Amino acid sequence: MAETKMNFEAILGEIRSFVQKELYPLEPVFLQQGFHAVEEQVQAKRELVKAHGWWAPPIPREYGGMGLGLTDFARLSEVLGLSLLGHLTFNCQAPDIGNMELLLEVANAEQKERYLVPLVRGGIRSCFSMTEPMHAGSNPLYMSTTAVKDGNDYVINGHKWFTSSHEGSAFAIVMAVTDPTAAKMHQRASQIIVPTDTPGFRRLRNIKIMGEEGQGYFTDAEVVYENVRVPRSNLLGREGEGFALAQMRLGPGRIHHCMRWIGICERAFDLMCRRAATRELAPGKLLAEKQAVQHWIAESRAEINAARMLVMDAAQKLDSSDSYAARVEISLIKFFVANVLDHVLDRAIQVHGGLGITDDTMLAFVYRRERAARIYDGPDEVHKSAVARQILKEYGVNISI
Ligand SMILES: Cc1cc2nc3c(=O)[nH]c(=O)nc-3n(C[C@H](O)[C@H](O)[C@H](O)COP(=O)(O)OP(=O)(O)OC[C@H]3O[C@@H](n4cnc5c(N)ncnc54)[C@H](O)[C@@H]3O)c2cc1C
Repeated sequence: MAETKMNFEAILGEIRSFVQKELYPLEPVFLQQGFHAVEEQVQAKRELVKAHGWWAPPIPREYGGMGLGLTDFARLSEVLGLSLLGHLTFNCQAPDIGNMELLLEVANAEQKERYLVPLVRGGIRSCFSMTEPMHAGSNPLYMSTTAVKDGNDYVINGHKWFTSSHEGSAFAIVMAVTDPTAAKMHQRASQIIVPTDTPGFRRLRNIKIMGEEGQGYFTDAEVVYENVRVPRSNLLGREGEGFALAQMRLGPGRIHHCMRWIGICERAFDLMCRRAATRELAPGKLLAEKQAVQHWIAESRAEINAARMLVMDAAQKLDSSDSYAARVEISLIKFFVANVLDHVLDRAIQVHGGLGITDDTMLAFVYRRERAARIYDGPDEVHKSAVARQILKEYGVNISI
């Protein structure tokens, strides 16, 4: 046991060096010219990662992954989060990793062979299509997309947006209503696999996020499903299980995201300290000598450390129970860490002055891109209310949603 732990520490150290040595140098080109400019190099790094045996870390070995448990992958996710290209290069990027975990859990043998195996190998990418422009995504019980049975097929019609990474994906997992009359709202929808080249499945646009359309993996699409016909065998799990499956993927997904954000915080923190320690306000007068900067450094250190401990606590609870039992811990980390990320990035940018809002460092890119952390996978307010509801139950107050 102690030896395994030591081995893992050593592997983490090697991967950290790899991220710094192999991926950091790609970032300036990525930041200035976009993802396509580094795509080939990322592909070459992915082959190196495979050769090291670090591929698809949380996926079982029999599928070609590293077979890491949730807590070990959480720690690795922080290290990969240090680089903008970390998770993608190790084939554990959202939404693919969530789709892989879901397929592992619920796909049948044929679905695994056709979709999971190539996804784990890294030959294809995928996306997840639930949110709709006309309905509140924070309460996805209400949706208009339908999948109607017709012979051996489902015919899907609907309009979705924020289908992240649709560009370049081979398939989507779509959430659609299969039984609009089910007495329980959460049993109305199902999850269905839709190859992206199916006639009628169209991307309307890559949505500009904070001024950027992005490229390839780094995009968020608005899509329509117009009489999209797929075989009924593309249903994941059973009809009406859509929300149960969504919950299943969200527990581990939030641990991955939070630890990735902590990796970003550590990178921003390092940049902030380096800048403070080298920028001279006047000859011999360092920025680091200013009390405001010292406080930002101390506050950031405390917040990042606290965030990490909270996430590891949630990961351990999730590892030994399930998403439902760990729901309070998962909601706590979701809003807490997203806000730590927000604060740390903001302080790091402030310390950099004008440089902070250029793309000459990674700060502005993540500041733009990760503002969404407080919105996706449940906005802050939803998680705070969820936590408070559970706590208040202990005080005899039952608040309905
Ligand atoms: C960058 C990005 C990537 C995404 N990727 C995907 C993806 O791959 N697939 C996918 O299906 N979806 C994706 N989403 C969608 C995401 O899950 C939704 O944006 C999110 O669930 C919020 O839904 P909404 O945007 O419709 O906001 P709304 O539901 O309209 O909520 C708006 C605001 O209202 C407030 N609010 C909502 N509910 C409550 C409440 N109960 N109590 C108090 N205040 C409340 C919050 O402040 C919230 O921000 C992505 C979103 C972003 C920004």
